[in-house]
Amino acid sequence: MHIPRKYKIARVLVDLSLNKNYDYYIPAELETKVEIGIHVTVPFGRGSKRFIKGCVTDLPASSEFDKLKFIESVYTARPKIPISLLKLGEWMAEYYCCSKEQAVRALLPGAVRSGKISKKNITFVYLVDPIKGSEYLFNNCSRSPSKAKVLKELLQRPDRPLSLLKKVTGVSDAVINSLVKDEVIKKEKRIVCRDPFADSEILSVDKPVLTEEQVIVLDKLQSMFDGKQKGFASLLYGVTGSGKTEVYLRSIEEILKEDKETIVLVPEIALTPQTTERFRSRFGDLVSVLHSGLSDGERFDEWTKVYEGKVKIVVGARSALFAPFRNLGLIIVDEEHENSYKQDEAPRYHARDVAVMRAYKENAFVILGSATPSLESFNNVDKGKYQLLELTKRIDDRVMPKVFTVDMRGQSEIAGSSSIFSRDLVDAVNDRIARGEQTIIFLNRRGFATHMSCNQCGYVASCPECSINYTFHRHKDCLTCHICGSIIRAPKNCPKCSAPDIKYSGVGTEKIESIAQKLFPLAYIKRMDSDTMTHKRSYEKVLSSFKKGEIDVLIGTQMIAKGLDFPNVTLVGIINADISLHMPDFRASERTFQLLTQVAGRAGRGHIPGEVFIQTFTPFNTAIQYAVNHDYNSFYEEEIDVRKMLCYPPEGHLATVRFTAENEEKVLDIAEQFLKDIEPIANDNLMISPVCPSPIAKMRNKYRFMIMIRGKLTTRLKKYLTQLVFEKYNKHDIHIYIDIDAVSLM
Ligand code: ADP
Ligand code: ZN
Repeated sequence: MHIPRKYKIARVLVDLSLNKNYDYYIPAELETKVEIGIHVTVPFGRGSKRFIKGCVTDLPASSEFDKLKFIESVYTARPKIPISLLKLGEWMAEYYCCSKEQAVRALLPGAVRSGKISKKNITFVYLVDPIKGSEYLFNNCSRSPSKAKVLKELLQRPDRPLSLLKKVTGVSDAVINSLVKDEVIKKEKRIVCRDPFADSEILSVDKPVLTEEQVIVLDKLQSMFDGKQKGFASLLYGVTGSGKTEVYLRSIEEILKEDKETIVLVPEIALTPQTTERFRSRFGDLVSVLHSGLSDGERFDEWTKVYEGKVKIVVGARSALFAPFRNLGLIIVDEEHENSYKQDEAPRYHARDVAVMRAYKENAFVILGSATPSLESFNNVDKGKYQLLELTKRIDDRVMPKVFTVDMRGQSEIAGSSSIFSRDLVDAVNDRIARGEQTIIFLNRRGFATHMSCNQCGYVASCPECSINYTFHRHKDCLTCHICGSIIRAPKNCPKCSAPDIKYSGVGTEKIESIAQKLFPLAYIKRMDSDTMTHKRSYEKVLSSFKKGEIDVLIGTQMIAKGLDFPNVTLVGIINADISLHMPDFRASERTFQLLTQVAGRAGRGHIPGEVFIQTFTPFNTAIQYAVNHDYNSFYEEEIDVRKMLCYPPEGHLATVRFTAENEEKVLDIAEQFLKDIEPIANDNLMISPVCPSPIAKMRNKYRFMIMIRGKLTTRLKKYLTQLVFEKYNKHDIHIYIDIDAVSLM
C-alpha cells in the first residue's frame, strides 16, 4: 500500500493586510529550519507564480484545508521575532481591532524588516609590524613622500579605517596598495557599529545622595521587585523637578543585578541629548537609544545590539516598547500621560497600555511616571491595580514656582499695541533680562497669524482640501495648511473681491517672536517650533546654547513644554492658556491642566525660585485654577466625577469608528449602514452615537465621519467590529478603521 508522506504544516501571516493566516506544507528539507517567528517566502494566490513573504505564527498539527502549497524558502534577511513578542502582537491585533499583519509589522523597525540593511563593513588598515614599518620608512620612502605620510600616520595610530587614512594623508589607493604589496601594511574588513554617539563622550557623574522621599519610593519599588508587594505595576507621581529620573536609574540598577533588561519609554519630544545623557552616564555602553533621528543603518545596528544581547537597557520613543529583549525585567514609561504614546496609524496602540500588557505577559515590572498622571492611570491606583509612589517635593527643598493668572479681558486697552503681552509679563521678563536669568514663553500655535481675512467681503483663506483655515507665515510670506502641509504665496489682494484690504489675526509663535524683539530689544531671543527646527541637529544646538545662557528668552510651542531642566530659567510666560481648553474633546480640561503644569514646571528648577504667568480669558476655569495651585488631587477628584457622570474614560472605554473618502454622500451612506449593523448591540453598558462629521470634517480632500462607541468594549464586540471592517466593509473604496481607546477625537 502506498502511504503518502505526511508533511508538517506552518501557519503563515503574509505581508498583506488581510487579517488572515494561511497554511503551508513545510518541505522536508526545511523541516528543521521552520519555527515560530521566522520569516518565509511562500507562493500566494492562484497558480504558483507569485511569491510573497510572511511570518510563521504557528505550527499546527493539522489544517482545515486539505491541499496546501509548499513553503518556497526561509527568508533569513529578516530576523526571527521572539515568540513572546509575536504573542504580544497577536494580542494587540485583537485588542486594537487591527489586522494581525499590521500588529506584527509594528514589532520590527522598518529598517530591520526591509531585510535590505545589514551590518556595516569597514576596511581598516594597520601596520604588520611597527619595527618593519619604521625600517621601511627610513630605507624605502625617501623618494615617495606619500608612502612616508601613510607610514608616519600609522606609526602614530597603528589602526585606521582606510577612508579616514586616505582623508588625512591625501594619498591615493595606489600608494596604499603598493604598501600592502610590500607587506608593510595590511587591509582588513571589519564589522562596525554605526554609532549614533560617535561624537559624544560619556561623562560619568557621581550618584547623588537620595532624598528621604526617593528612599521611601525605592523601598516600595524594591518590595514590588521582591514580590513582597502584590502587583507588578507602580505609578510614580512626582511633581516637576522631584527627581523621578533618579528613581528610574536606581530601579534599573536593581534590575541589572538580576541580569535582567529594562526598556525606558520617553515621548519623542523629550528624547533630548539631555535625557539620554543621564542614562548613558550611569550605564555607559549598556544603553541603546532609539529615536526618530537615527539613520536606517544606525537603527538597524541599535536594534541588532538589543537582539544580540549586547545591551541591557533601551531608551526610546513609542516603538522601543518592542525591543527584542528576552529576559525583560522592567519597563519604565516616563511622562505616561503623553498623548504621543498613542500611534495614529494602524496598529493604533497606546504604548503605555501595551507596556503594561507586555510586562504582565513576560513577568516584568512596570513603573509609570508623571507629574500629571493621566486620569486612566490614577484611576488604576484608585482601583488598586497600581501601587502609588509619591514625590511631593522638589529636590533640595526648592519651592514650586509661584503661579499667577493674568486676566486678559480688557488688557488690550491698558497695554496698547502689545495686547498680546500683558504688562505684568513684560515687567517680569525685563526683570529677568536685567538679572541675567532666563525666560521661557510658551504658545501652542506656530506661524505668524492664524487667520487671513478680507475686511471688505469677509473672505477667510482656508485650505481647499482640508476644513481648516490657512496659517500665515510671515518669514516665508506664505499661507500654509497645518494639516496637509499645502502652501501658497500670501496674496496681496483678496482672492475673492480683489480689495487690497487684507487683515491678519490670531497669533502664533512667529508673531510672538517679532513682538518680543520689539519689546525687549536688548535681549537675545530664539524661537523653537517645527518651523525653525528643520535641521536634524537644530534642536540640540538651540538647547545647548540655551543651557550656556546665550539665550535670554526662548519662545516655543509644546516642543519646549516638557522635560527641559535648566536651572537658570526663573520665569515662564504662557501666552494663551485657553487654546487647549476650547477643543471639542472631553479631555480638554485634562490636557489644559497637564500642559499648564508641565510648562510651569520648567521654572525655578535651580536655586532661585521661579514665577509663572498664565495669560487667560477664563481665569475662573477650574483646570487653570488647579494648575495655579499645583493641586493635582483636587483636579482629579473633580474631573473623575465628570467622567463618571458622562460615562467617559476611565469610566469604561471609548472607541471611534472612522470613515473617510472623497465622495461625501457615499462615505456617509456607508457609515449609516455600518451603524445599522452595530446599533442592535447597544445596551445599558454600551452607548453608540449616531454618525457625525469629525470635528475636522475634511482632510486632504477626504470627507470624514465617525461613530463613537462608549462603555464596556468586550472581546466579542471587538471581534465583531474587526470582522465588519475586514470582511463585510472591505470591498468599498472607503477607508474604515477602528480606534480603540482613542485619544484624538479630531
Ligand atoms: P523630574 O524628572 O521629577 O522632573 P529630575 O529627575 O529631572 O526631576 O530631577 C531634577 C534635578 O534634580 C535633576 O537635575 C537631577 O539631577 C537632580 N536630582 C535628582 N535626585 C537628586 C538627589 N537625590 N540629590 C540631588 N540632586 C538630585
Ligand atoms: Zn490642507
